[in-house]
Amino acid sequence: MQIVRQLDPLRDALAEFRKAGLKIGLVPTMGALHAGHMRLVEVAREQCDAVVASIFVNPTQFGEGEDLDAYPRQEVADAALLDAAGVELLWAPTADQMYPSGYATSVSVTGISDGLCGAARPGHFDGVATVVAKLFNQVRPDAAYFGEKDYQQLAVIRRMARDLDFTHDIVGVPTVRDPDGLALSSRNAYLTAEQRANAVALPEAMREAATAIADGGKVAAILEAAKARILASGFHKIDYLELRDANTLALLDVFTKPARLFAAAHIGPTRLIDNIPLS
Ligand code: AMP
Repeated sequence: MQIVRQLDPLRDALAEFRKAGLKIGLVPTMGALHAGHMRLVEVAREQCDAVVASIFVNPTQFGEGEDLDAYPRQEVADAALLDAAGVELLWAPTADQMYPSGYATSVSVTGISDGLCGAARPGHFDGVATVVAKLFNQVRPDAAYFGEKDYQQLAVIRRMARDLDFTHDIVGVPTVRDPDGLALSSRNAYLTAEQRANAVALPEAMREAATAIADGGKVAAILEAAKARILASGFHKIDYLELRDANTLALLDVFTKPARLFAAAHIGPTRLIDNIPLS
C-alpha cells in the first residue's frame, strides 16, 4: 500500500490507476480505525478495483471545547489494518495540504444540516461538507463510502454531491455494532469499563422505543420514557432523541414510513450518537 501525504504524488498515483482502467473507491476517515471503518473498506473492495482510504482529523469540523486535541491518532496501526485489508493507497494529507495559508472557502449545506448534530454542534457540517468536497475533488473517485452510523452526515454529503454536481456514487453502509449492540465508534476508546458497560443503555432504549413506536404507541410519550431510561443508566445529558423522516430528516411526531430514530447523549466526557431504522 502506498502512503501519500502530498497532492502531487496523490495525483500521479491516481493517474496510474485511471490509465489501468481501474474503478476507484474512496473511504474517507479520521483514523483510529475499527471494524466499522473496515466494513466500508470491504464494501469498497467488493465494488471497486482500487480502494483509496483517507485519514485526516479535520480541524474545521470540531467546535470550541470539543475533542480535536484528544482525538485518538494511531496512524501506524491504521496503516497496517488498511494494508492487510487490501487498500491500494492511503491518503494522509498534512494539514497544510488541506488548508494552505490563505485558505478561505467553506461549503455549507443548509436545511438538512440544521437539526440533530447540526443544532448541537454549530458549524460541524460546514467542516464536514468542505473537507469531503475537497477529498472528492482531490481523488475524483468512482464511488465513495460512508457509514449510516453518521446518518445525518451521509444525508448532508448526498445533498452536497447533488448540488455541486459530483456524479460518482455515494454508498451508505449499515452500522457495525459490538455484540451487545453498541455502535462502534473511535470515541468508544474514551469510555472507562463502567461507562462502556452503561453505554449499551443507549441502543437498548432506542431499540425498545423503535419497536413501541412501530407498534403504534404515542411517539412523544415513548421518547420521554426512553430518555428517562438513558439518563438513569449513567448518561448525564441527552442532546436529542428524535423520530425523523429517513429521507428528508424532517421531525416526525407521528410514525410514518420511512422513519429513523436518532440519538446523541453524553456519558462522562464522551458524546455518543446512534440511529436505527423503524420497520
Ligand atoms: P470517522 O473516522 O468517525 O470520521 O468515520 C469514517 C467513516 O466511517 C464515516 O463514514 C463513518 O460513518 C463510518 N463509520 C464510523 N463508525 C461506523 C460504524 N460503527 N459502522 C459503519 N460505519 C462507521
